[in-house]
Formats: sequence, structure tokens, C-alpha cells
Amino acid sequence: MLASNTGHVGRLAPRSRNRHRRSYRIIKLENLNDLNKEVILLFTTFGYLFNNNIYTKKMADRHHITADQAIRHLSEGNLRYIEDKIETPNIKSTQRYEYTKGQSPFAIILNCADSRVVPEVIFDQGIGDLFVIRVAGNIANPSSIASIEYAVAHIGCNLIIVLGHESCGAVGAAIDSYPDVDNGPNLNHLVSFITPAVEQNMGAPIETVVRCNAENNAQTMLDNSDIIKQYVNAGDLRIVPGYYGFESGKVDLF
Ligand SMILES: [Zn+2]
Repeated sequence: MLASNTGHVGRLAPRSRNRHRRSYRIIKLENLNDLNKEVILLFTTFGYLFNNNIYTKKMADRHHITADQAIRHLSEGNLRYIEDKIETPNIKSTQRYEYTKGQSPFAIILNCADSRVVPEVIFDQGIGDLFVIRVAGNIANPSSIASIEYAVAHIGCNLIIVLGHESCGAVGAAIDSYPDVDNGPNLNHLVSFITPAVEQNMGAPIETVVRCNAENNAQTMLDNSDIIKQYVNAGDLRIVPGYYGFESGKVDLF
């Protein structure tokens, strides 16, 4: 009961305050004379231009770590993980203040939702190092592509890893559903992104389908995003499929 009440109040209170702030602002503007309105318009215009310059500059800047360097960082972290030598950087309380100023991850990982595949752990990275999108089957659907576009265009990441993994349940579901099992609209949508890999590898081991699915979804995001295409064509961005093995702990990039 207590938790329920707390959640209810927490959800409604900000909306109520926002409504109050909006109506307050409208009343004040209506009471201003023309000169004051012009001054406000001037400041608003400068504010817009200022922000817009920052926005444009931000879009033009690329991360100081190149795609090749990012791959090296990830490979070195994965080796530490394999050899039980993890350092788990950037998670100390003293560093948390730095994160309030913004984020600057050096790689994007399109990852399955599987609880056994945790990018920050298997690459031995800390908070703020990786921009991770998690969705079963690591599919490049409009939502995951939109998230990736943000990290590419606004944060300046130069590397995208599409990471499949051993015994992926989503890929297994796509294999079991082929050709026409109806799993309902949501799972049908998800499986439709994996089905091409199933069709290309009929009768093959699931690992082969997983690897092909990572490649296919890397291509799908490229085909369906003008933003990603633009940065790839300019040589600023690489998309690399990968496969994670449970027993070895190794990430194989291909
Ligand atoms: Zn999976």
C-alpha cells in the first residue's frame, strides 16, 4: 500500500507542477508591454542560436577514440575477462560526479537481452564507457536504430558492435517458428528480423544462424538509416558483427 501510494504521488506531482509553471508563464507574457516582449524575443533568439551552435558543433565532433582503437579497447577488456583479470574501471563513487556533466561512451553495442551477456562485464568496461541497446535477438528494428543514431550523431561514437551469442533464445524461437508459427504480434515482429538468417541457413547449427543474424542486422541498420549510412560512407563509423561464447567467454568479431 505504501509503495503504491508513493508511486502514485511521484507520478502525478511533476505533471501538476509543470501545468502550474506553464500557466504562470502565459499570464506573465500577456501582461507585458511591447518593449518587454521584444527584449524577451531577442534573448530567446540568442538563446536558440547559442544552443543551436552547440548542437551543430556536437554533431560535427567525433569521439577521440577511433573505431580501430575502440575495437582494441574492447578486445583487451574481453581478454582480461577471459583470464579473470578484470579491472572494472570507472565505477567508483568519486567518479560519479563526472557522469553528471554528460556521457562520452566510445562504442555502441547492439546486444541481446539475455542476462548472461552483459557487455560492460564481458568487455571489462565501466559506467559511461559503452552505449548499450538491449533487445532479444540483437535486432535492428526502428527503436534500436533510433537509439544508435543518437549515439552516432550526437555523442560521436565511431564503432557499433552487433553482438550475437551462444544458445540465443530469440534465434531459437525464430528457428522453431519457421515458417509460419503465429506467436502473436510482438514476438512475430521480433522474429521477422531473425527469419532471414534462418532461411539462409536451413538445417545449420544455431551458432551459424546467430552469426548470420548479427551480420544481417548490421546490414539492416545500415540500409534503414540515412544517418548511419552517412557516417559509414564518410569513413567515420564501422559496424562490426560479433559472437559471444558462454564457455570460452570470448567475443569473436568478424
Ligand atoms: Zn539471445
